[in-house]
Amino acid sequence: MSNKAVYLDYAATTPVDPRVIEIMQTCLSLDGHFANPASIHAKGRQSAALVSDARMRLANLLNTQPECLIWTSGATESNNLAIQGAARARAHRGRHLITMPTEHKAVIDTFKALEKEGFEVSWINPGADGLLSLDTLENELRADTQLVSVMHVNNETGVIQDISGIGLLCREQGVVFHTDAAQSVGKLDIDLANLPVDLLSLTAHKFYGPQGIGALYIADRPGNGIVPIMFGGNQERRLRPGTLPVHLIAGAGLAATIAASRLNDDTRHLQVMRDRLWDGIKDIEGLTRNGPDGNCYAGILNVSVDGVEGESLMLGMEPVCVASGSACNSTSGESSYVLRALGRNDRQAQSAVRFSFGHATTSDDIDMAIARYRWTVNHLRAIAPRSMAVS
Ligand SMILES: *Cc1c(COP(=O)(O)O)cnc(C)c1O
Repeated sequence: MSNKAVYLDYAATTPVDPRVIEIMQTCLSLDGHFANPASIHAKGRQSAALVSDARMRLANLLNTQPECLIWTSGATESNNLAIQGAARARAHRGRHLITMPTEHKAVIDTFKALEKEGFEVSWINPGADGLLSLDTLENELRADTQLVSVMHVNNETGVIQDISGIGLLCREQGVVFHTDAAQSVGKLDIDLANLPVDLLSLTAHKFYGPQGIGALYIADRPGNGIVPIMFGGNQERRLRPGTLPVHLIAGAGLAATIAASRLNDDTRHLQVMRDRLWDGIKDIEGLTRNGPDGNCYAGILNVSVDGVEGESLMLGMEPVCVASGSACNSTSGESSYVLRALGRNDRQAQSAVRFSFGHATTSDDIDMAIARYRWTVNHLRAIAPRSMAVS
């Protein structure tokens, strides 16, 4: 068996497209576009032009206007800026906010911080299919509700929320709607000109761009203002001060153009890869698929299996790189709150493995993952103490 790593953790981060690496390299050196885009000299103006071009590319991917996009360091920062920024901007009108326990930590912890500041947060559980019911949301909306935040594609299960339905409901009630789209931008067709979304977070390293650069989309609508969470300069409409990282921005812009051009082909490829993996493991006794068959992003397959524990499973999978539960949580030792919210018990949640695929994933990679998964499950069951065994 070859020991070459098989990377099936694209939902955690993706490798950078070689064309993106190339454009970033042209930015960094003295003869390149390294200058501060805020400087008014010739080199600064060249950098500023590159930043505008990248903003236009990202706007094209999302079918929106470049003026609606603010560069940030990634989706964590965009989520913080959107949620804190909107909640504080509207606090004089009301202090009730709505989100779900299945959100990314960057959203959950931001809302928890706001709760400590005196905002009231309603945490709506999804149904067994992972989806937010629009009826439930409608019941939770109140006269003092100011903000709803529901992610587009879940990073652990791939469940796709009905952000169009949620956004419409929010618009009818005059409530700001934010969505964390870190897992969907560049992967699903997102048409912001026709989507009732007010604030949207994204990050380039989930779609073959570099780490450390993302954006917040702010719809150009009255009442949709946010206040900044950082101070120090007039970049990005003063909403996100700090010297712009030209190389990262140029890389993110090109990654957006490339993502748009290959979106349809990638989706078909991911479906084939996911189905091949599922077909290769679905007969394993005690296996559960975490997430519905439909309404799921094709690049993620999350499964639990009775009688084994996720960390051991993940380590046994070497050299296949997968995530146990949620990558962002795997050091905390807690079982996945996303899977528990879906109705999985603690033991099922603890055995969860997330496989995620990308455009470089091959059938051989999948076959290797199938073989390693089957072997590891059998092996762990064979050595498990009686209490862990399948009953
Ligand atoms: C990756 C991810 C984030 C965090 O993005 P960063 O670029 O690491 O800040 C936030 N939300 C979701 C859903 C993600 O998948």
